[in-house]
Amino acid sequence: MRTRFAPSPTGFLHIGGARTALFSWAFARHFGGQFVLRIEDTDLERSTPEATQAILDGMAWLDLAADEGPFFQTQRMARYAEVIAQLLADGRAYHCYASVEELDALRESQRARGEKPRYDGRWRPENVQGKVPPDGVRPVVRFRNPDAGAVLWDDMFKGPISIDNTQLDDLIIARGDGSPTYNFCVVVDDWDMRISHVIRGDDHVNNTPRQINILRALGAPVPVYGHVPMIFGPDGQKLSKRRDAVAVTQYDEEGFLPEAVCNYLSRLGWSHGDEELFSREQFVQWFDGSHLASSPAQFDRDKLKWVNHHYINHCAPERLLKLITPRIANRGWSLDVLGAAEQLAAISVLRERADTLEVLADAFGMLLATPEPSAEDRETHLAPAGRAACAALASALSGVGEGSEPGWDKATISGVLKATAAGLGGKMPIVAMPARVAVFGRAQTPAVDVMLALLPRDRVIERLQRAAAG
Ligand code: GLU
Repeated sequence: MRTRFAPSPTGFLHIGGARTALFSWAFARHFGGQFVLRIEDTDLERSTPEATQAILDGMAWLDLAADEGPFFQTQRMARYAEVIAQLLADGRAYHCYASVEELDALRESQRARGEKPRYDGRWRPENVQGKVPPDGVRPVVRFRNPDAGAVLWDDMFKGPISIDNTQLDDLIIARGDGSPTYNFCVVVDDWDMRISHVIRGDDHVNNTPRQINILRALGAPVPVYGHVPMIFGPDGQKLSKRRDAVAVTQYDEEGFLPEAVCNYLSRLGWSHGDEELFSREQFVQWFDGSHLASSPAQFDRDKLKWVNHHYINHCAPERLLKLITPRIANRGWSLDVLGAAEQLAAISVLRERADTLEVLADAFGMLLATPEPSAEDRETHLAPAGRAACAALASALSGVGEGSEPGWDKATISGVLKATAAGLGGKMPIVAMPARVAVFGRAQTPAVDVMLALLPRDRVIERLQRAAAG
């Protein structure tokens, strides 16, 4: 059991590619096989080292480690040339000297007759008797496709597919300059790398019969193919670069955890009963190639956020802290305002409402940024009565945690809040609301006693006093 992921390095790792990689990886893991990574970089004009790096980074971020590779097609040119020579020698491939103009004319006349345009085999070995190759033309090499019969395969995901050979042209496998073409390289690689199961996007379904014919001509084993349906955007259209986040790294930037993205992607077009949240080990145990949908999956960002929220709330606080530290620095804040224990405690409190790391980092603003309440919150909560409540709370908190006084903690702070409210002749909210706006800059926060306990006492008092002073 050997699978592969074979991206073309012409851009970032696309979310659809990531899902294909995840399925190939999990399938190999499930059966104890190997997962091979191959970079299909023969299109020299469109392939870049940056894109290769982006793909490797994306794979590393998703933690999809290859057992073999990355192999690069550009390093295998000698091998492709060798196989082309072998096919030529066996009469399975031949030189074709037809010029572009000639082929254009051929297509035109076929169209005029209402026929499907296709190469007419004019340079096939059986048709060249007595024909002299034109001078100065560097021929392409064509694969001599079988004339009759059909190519049939039982697709892992789509079921049996059959394509008539009459639908297939004699594919060009090497250009005039000798460089091998895409479908041919894939065939030689899948053969040499002993790939038993090809899992790839269903935009490659049309390539499969051509590849199978070449494999057969080479006497190579034909792998099992599984074509994964596309991912559509929320509007039922193809995912678009402009409208949708499609690069895996974009999800990293937006604050999604890789395990959340993997969990979410695994459910796009595959299911195991009603299971939505499961570990990667569990996924590998379940993913045997069955239960894949044969129709396109729809990308649902809200669901991804829901999955991410779950993982954020089950992640070790130490790891989350590490992940949000640069995001906090980007906002111009410093975690040093908080003690080490409070930093971790803040994570536990604030993550309950966070569905991305960006949202979590923003929430730290309540603790780390200078409070800047909105005019509306000021008006509602920091009118004279509210400011008086802030002043009263500031002085009531001033001795807390000192000498024999009880410590600076949630229970003590809660007691002080209640006593201060009672002293002002009211209930908790008459102190809690002004305190929220004064200390955290907003009226909506997690439990106010819990939040106050996260900040050093003197900072709380200072913020209350500033608000009291107006
Ligand atoms: N290189 C192809 C792509 O990026 C995939 C080829 C394959 O999986 O056979 O779409």
